[in-house]
Amino acid sequence: DYVFEAMQKALSEKRIQYTAWTGIPELRSAIAAKLKQENNIDVDPDSEIIVTSGAQEALMVTLMALLNPGDEVLFHEPCYVSYEPLIRLAHGRPVPVRLGRESGFRLTRERIEACLTPAARVLILNFPNNPTGADLDPGDLAAIADLCRQRDLLVLADEIYGELRYEGPPRSIAALPEMRERTVFLHGFSKAWAMTGYRLGYACAPAPLIDAMMRIHQYTMLCAPILSQEAAVEALREPERDIAPMRETYRQRRNYLLHAFHQMGLPVAEPRGAFYMFPWVGDLGLTSRDFALRLLEEERVAVVPGSAFGAAGEGHVRCSYAAATDLIREAARRIAAFVARLRAAAPETARTLPS
Ligand code: PLP
Repeated sequence: DYVFEAMQKALSEKRIQYTAWTGIPELRSAIAAKLKQENNIDVDPDSEIIVTSGAQEALMVTLMALLNPGDEVLFHEPCYVSYEPLIRLAHGRPVPVRLGRESGFRLTRERIEACLTPAARVLILNFPNNPTGADLDPGDLAAIADLCRQRDLLVLADEIYGELRYEGPPRSIAALPEMRERTVFLHGFSKAWAMTGYRLGYACAPAPLIDAMMRIHQYTMLCAPILSQEAAVEALREPERDIAPMRETYRQRRNYLLHAFHQMGLPVAEPRGAFYMFPWVGDLGLTSRDFALRLLEEERVAVVPGSAFGAAGEGHVRCSYAAATDLIREAARRIAAFVARLRAAAPETARTLPS
């Protein structure tokens, strides 16, 4: 409510102009203070931060600024739906690092190394992850940072779920030794602040990079919406006040859904952050797309087919628990009924039921 009121106040004061292209100074200072407090990263609010229309725009201007035609961008898959199209849009070559449920979607240095060629230039990291909820262990994070230094890779760290981590404090790769200068730290207000429609995000990076990104931003967006920027200053004033209880609620919903999927006999990796769960439905005789379509038609429950998140997502569906707990309980009941019907129709899959 106080974020919404800050926006209303800015509107009533008719603060409806353009802003500085990189964002209002109060917001950039608040972002710099947050990075310092949470990750002990020093960023200069005047030259190393750009405020964008969502993390989405930050992703786009980063890739457009960084890539030459044919440059390879590595990203772990299953992943956020936009990475591959945006890399192509920026004339880069997408290189998925495919992860599987057997490892709990664990990204390791070795997995990345297996996909590296001399054309590799950028590595995208998104932890906690959309769609799996997976997170990086500190040991893997350090080993991946080491690889980036050795192979001169820039990292695009999509930290949009950073506050929604169930175990341990924030940990960005940018905070590791000699990583700040090769990392673009991306964030936004859509997830932990639930401000999706405000369309506000930001990127922090070394000044020459921000300067290159700024040119693209300046000629496409000019600036992020001023009312949203004013609201975001308020959002950053005491973030944990609302985020801590929100995270706790997500944790409870996660535990509930985890139990529900176990009861249904659907294997699922335990999410360590974000608000998604990625159960395996690949033994039920349908593609993930057909599963999602039939679940929608027959039970009025919406999930996203795993194939939307890349080939490595096939056989899974993404369930979001950013919905009211009552709705989630009802959805779980309906999914269980649907799965039971599928199994009854194809009894040979019944062996996947728990004993
Ligand atoms: N990055 C990831 C991993 C996301 O899941 C999303 C939205 O779902 C975005 C970026 C885009 O966020 P925004 O609303 O800030 O543009």
